[in-house]
Amino acid sequence: MAQSNGPRNGKHAKSTQRTNSLKRKRVQEDFSSLIQRVENLDLKEPYKAFTDLPLSEPTLSGLTSSHYKHLTDIQSRAISHGLKGRDILGAAKTGSGKTLAFLIPILENLYRRQWAEHDGLGAMVLSPTRELAIQIFEVLRKIGRYHHFSAGLVIGGKSLREEQERLGRMNILVCTPGRMLQHLDQTAMFETYNLQMLVLDEADRIMDMGFQKTVDAIVGHLPKQRQTMLFSATQTNKVSDLARLSLQDPEYVAVHETASSATPSKLQQHYVVTSLPRKLDVLWSFIRSNLKSKTIVFMSSGKQVRFVYEAFRHLQPGIPLMHLHGRQKQGGRLDITTKFSQAKHAVLFSTDVAARGLDFPAVDWVIQLDCPEDADTYIHRVGRTARYEREGRAVLFLDPSEEPVMLKRLEHKKVPIERINVKANKQQSIKNQLQNMCFKDPELKYVGQKAFISYVKSVYVQKDKEIFKIKDLNLEEFAGSLGLPGAPRIKFIKGDDTKERKNASRAVAYMSSGDNDSDAEGGEKKAKKETPQVRTKYDRMFERRNQDVLAGHYSKLINDDGTLVETTKATDEADEDDDFLSVKRRFDAGDKELEVGGSSDESDSEPEPEPKKKGVKLVSLDGKDPLVIDSKRREKLLKSKKKLLKFKGKGTKLVYDDDGNAHELYEMEDEDDFKAKGDAKEQRARFLAEETERTRVADLEDKEVVKQKRREKKEKRKARERELLEEEENEERLAQLPPTEDNDRDQFSPSEDEAPRRSKKQRVREESESEEERRPKKPTKWTAPKEIQTLEDLESLATGLLG
Ligand code: ADP
Ligand code: MG
Repeated sequence: MAQSNGPRNGKHAKSTQRTNSLKRKRVQEDFSSLIQRVENLDLKEPYKAFTDLPLSEPTLSGLTSSHYKHLTDIQSRAISHGLKGRDILGAAKTGSGKTLAFLIPILENLYRRQWAEHDGLGAMVLSPTRELAIQIFEVLRKIGRYHHFSAGLVIGGKSLREEQERLGRMNILVCTPGRMLQHLDQTAMFETYNLQMLVLDEADRIMDMGFQKTVDAIVGHLPKQRQTMLFSATQTNKVSDLARLSLQDPEYVAVHETASSATPSKLQQHYVVTSLPRKLDVLWSFIRSNLKSKTIVFMSSGKQVRFVYEAFRHLQPGIPLMHLHGRQKQGGRLDITTKFSQAKHAVLFSTDVAARGLDFPAVDWVIQLDCPEDADTYIHRVGRTARYEREGRAVLFLDPSEEPVMLKRLEHKKVPIERINVKANKQQSIKNQLQNMCFKDPELKYVGQKAFISYVKSVYVQKDKEIFKIKDLNLEEFAGSLGLPGAPRIKFIKGDDTKERKNASRAVAYMSSGDNDSDAEGGEKKAKKETPQVRTKYDRMFERRNQDVLAGHYSKLINDDGTLVETTKATDEADEDDDFLSVKRRFDAGDKELEVGGSSDESDSEPEPEPKKKGVKLVSLDGKDPLVIDSKRREKLLKSKKKLLKFKGKGTKLVYDDDGNAHELYEMEDEDDFKAKGDAKEQRARFLAEETERTRVADLEDKEVVKQKRREKKEKRKARERELLEEEENEERLAQLPPTEDNDRDQFSPSEDEAPRRSKKQRVREESESEEERRPKKPTKWTAPKEIQTLEDLESLATGLLG
């Protein structure tokens, strides 16, 4: 068997070899012909089918398996330029197939260069959001499944180490700018010197302020010789942007430039004018009457998204609700996008994180609950529906203050939009339900307060001040519509850079935590009564801070022009109630019911009247306002007489009569007695004359005392002078003796050269003068005590400093 098998095996091997070499030859021929066809590619030809294009076998197979046959407009115009290696600025409406317009050239250009693993990174696609990056990566996987390239997704939210290990082996990367830069800076094995292609999807978004520094840093890591492609529905064509990316003679492919509208033709666009406080009612009514639809609702902040999601979930509208915002964990975000993609009927509440590029299948409605920051954002948001030849509807909610200018902005961008009215009979109000929910669930109320603040903040930081006018919004009613007992008060830091302010989210808003518990419903008050209050050191500190006269001032809403936001009377009242933390106000009404100078019996378990709080007592101090003792610190006061003096006032001067009885200096007389003494005018004149005489005599006495003191001082001085004179005479007598060595040396002492020698008598006089006479005239130079140990030292330091 072995023999007979031998020749046959040899024959078979030979034929396999032959077929293999034939195959290789054919592949080689195909490859050369493909290169040739690309070289000969006519850039003006409007290609209809993918098979008409010079594409490799693996790409064509991938497209066919993904059911892509015919090219869309942007694909037909852009792919040929891409295949030729040209830089592209691609602009086409949302949902018109831009993703394939850059992914096909990426696969093809690397294929024709016979890119292999050891060649490293060949192409990089940047996306502004993780969700979009994931979506692009999925399309790449689908159409590139017959290629041998390695492709990776770099979007953060995963371990950096894990990504680092694999990054060095990747040929194509889809990434978000931040994470990519992190790798470029930190991953040693990651090289980009060989990069051939860079793509920016949603390019205008990536080129704007938020990503500016990151993108510039990324581009700094990449080779200058490369192909760069920019795609967006609202394309950047700022020369400065193009210079930043060093585009070389780019082809501007703008397929819908001449179209009558900037939005998909099968999209119906409407707006409703509804005041801010009514928005949630209208949204609720809309959801209730569209239970068989798939809807995305855009809001301006993650906190609003959370609140509306939580609140509506409690109200159970009868359709699955989902929510998406940037602060969710990566895993959760992914789950939600997948779920919403698969859902037939659902409502997704979202921030602008879902505004760009996301291709959720079959979305029926796009609702913009909050006005978008500009017309471009509007275009991207509505672009989540009516994608690739499908139909869709969009509704924009506008406050009357936003309507005129926003409509102008949309018209300018060629957005056809019509006004519709909400049917009155279909409208339901959920205000009361929301209020009940917030009352029962402090957590929800807290989320509502956050939502309110972040909405106001989002309006405040908008660049287009003609549309967004915070003063024109009825914020108090808006807070009510969220179920809140009053508008939380907000303070804004002033500054000019709106972007920076937008990012400085936490620092900017300051919410007074005692916001308006005084609502008619009195929800919070009741809740407070039910739960025993444990007051911590921090509570007391907080209360003390709120007693500050400036507290109210700081927590008022401040406009960008520095003026206070006008609020309704209700706000003022609410503000007043906020000050209830001030100790005086708290006990105003209930003074009489409180114990005055009472014991500190804290264990009193009897129900107390409302103003009387446990552990609080009043101590009366000599007829003055009673002192409130509500903390341990205050309790300590009672032990110190010295400290209590502060609260007692200054006291009065008393005089004593001969019997030792104390009297005030000027006591009130009985009226009859006063009249008996004669006419008031005369009495006054007499009193004045007496007092003048009294002061004159007192003055003379004082002067005499001063004179006497001066005389004594003079006597003392003279006595000392006499003593010194005698001493000097004695010395002179000694000096007449022969000079000693010491005397000689003295003659050459430096002090003698500098100052003429004065007689001792003279010196003494100067000294005594300086001590006795000059001191009162001139303040003497004060020297600090060497070491402060006692209170006296401290006092002497203070008086010294005060001169
Ligand atoms: P854009 O990036 O312009 O918003 P996408 O690339 O996300 O649009 O494509 C929008 C939708 O159109 C996607 O669902 C995609 O599968 C589909 N699509 C794109 N190109 C084609 C094509 N040539 N034929 C059929 N469907 C396509
Ligand atoms: Mg896109």
